[in-house]
Amino acid sequence: MKPIVAIVGRPNVGKSTLFNNLVGDKIAIVDDAPGVTRDRLYRETEWNGSEFVVVDTGGLEPRNNEFMMTKIKEQAEVAMNEADVILFVVDGRCGVNPLDEEIAYILRKKNKPVILCVNKIDNYIEQQNEVYEFWALGFEKLVGISGEHKVNLGDMLDMVTEIIEKMDIPEEEEDVLKLAIIGKPNAGKSSLVNKFSGEERTIVSDIAGTTRDAIDTLIEFNDQKYMIIDTAGIRRKSKVEESLEYYSVLRAIKSIKRADVCLLMLDGQEGLTEQDKRIAGIAAEELKPIIIVVNKWDLVDKNSTTMEKMRESILVELPFLSYAPVEFVSALTGQRTTRLLEIADQIFEEYNKRISTGILNSVLKEIVMMNTPPTRKGRVVKINYATQVSVAPPRFVLFCNYPELIHFSYARYVENKFREAFGFEGSPLLISFEKKNSEE
Ligand code: GDP
Ligand code: GDP
Repeated sequence: MKPIVAIVGRPNVGKSTLFNNLVGDKIAIVDDAPGVTRDRLYRETEWNGSEFVVVDTGGLEPRNNEFMMTKIKEQAEVAMNEADVILFVVDGRCGVNPLDEEIAYILRKKNKPVILCVNKIDNYIEQQNEVYEFWALGFEKLVGISGEHKVNLGDMLDMVTEIIEKMDIPEEEEDVLKLAIIGKPNAGKSSLVNKFSGEERTIVSDIAGTTRDAIDTLIEFNDQKYMIIDTAGIRRKSKVEESLEYYSVLRAIKSIKRADVCLLMLDGQEGLTEQDKRIAGIAAEELKPIIIVVNKWDLVDKNSTTMEKMRESILVELPFLSYAPVEFVSALTGQRTTRLLEIADQIFEEYNKRISTGILNSVLKEIVMMNTPPTRKGRVVKINYATQVSVAPPRFVLFCNYPELIHFSYARYVENKFREAFGFEGSPLLISFEKKNSEE
């Protein structure tokens, strides 16, 4: 579980610029299907061997001025609950702003480490006095930086890693399947947890994570142990948090990263929303096995085709999750809920499945025979052989003479054929084409 470093501050102080410079170049969006929301709100990064996740909660802040003040304060509150280290950014050229004071007040209430980053200090020697002014906000750790010109970012990151290295990060338990139940507020996540822990034998519930606020619930079903991640976050219900999208997103990021299998809960009455898509995008990007759970099925008016239609329309809107099983449940009545645990087991197995090289290559031969890669610019692409280089997620490399000529649609074709032949339901599949070694 990598520590979360959140960037907070009022608009225009330079949060996004800092974020982009901390996480390096923006990574290209691979599968940019229309209608799919895939934000770059967080990135894993590393400094001197310490790994952490940087989150720019500002990326979700409202761009109009309405409610701005409240929203920003709420955002600080959320960061306070969810992050391990907070980078509180202020504008060094403007002096202390009343809104900075408000945020500082919220951040001081809890005992989380805060680093006050006085930004836009492009010339440290000349602007020293501007930095000192911010001692008034009462934070022990203060550093003058320029996110844009990369001044003193090293010093700031040293402060971050110093805090992280002292943190007590709980060990993850073995032979327990870790489930993240994700989805927007009111989808029925806590009802599902209650169903699971009430009806199945609860061995230990609510085990407190050591230094963190995360509370996981351990349940047992059919001799298999399951850990529901961050039950506290699921159950936590304050008005503020329910209304906040970045709260759900931030919590989802944390849970997904720790999970073996993700259960994305949708409200069956509402169908798929933008917020669902955003959370789904994170799970896909993290390459985790996933089940799409359509909840509140008891409330849906249905006939014999409703389920199939809904399944189709969800997968059309989430094309990057075309491999995910879609289940229809009622967390309230318990209809089909234990099935979810069985499916979670199955897809985790698929995620860890290894295909022998012999079988893989005989299937590949057929696939290529049925549909040869198109000839381009007079060159004939020849695929020689394939190998599975990893599990969890399953990753395949296909060796060929001109990997650069393979079109995305051909890769998609191979993926579909591999799925037909080998299954991998619920699991992402990675397929890449590489140049055959010259000695072969
Ligand atoms: P956010 O709203 O807090 O995410 O702020 P942005 O990252 O969008 O930056 C707001 C403005 O401040 C932009 O015009 C940036 O170019 C500028 N800015 C950001 N960082 C620096 C800096 O270190 N020095 C200077 N001079 N300008 C900066
Ligand atoms: P969470 O915010 O995702 O944890 O959602 P909750 O579990 O708190 O559920 C929100 C509301 O939806 C509550 O009033 C639940 O009783 C209700 N609810 C949850 N699941 C179902 C369901 O399957 N059927 C019906 N009818 N109501 C449900």
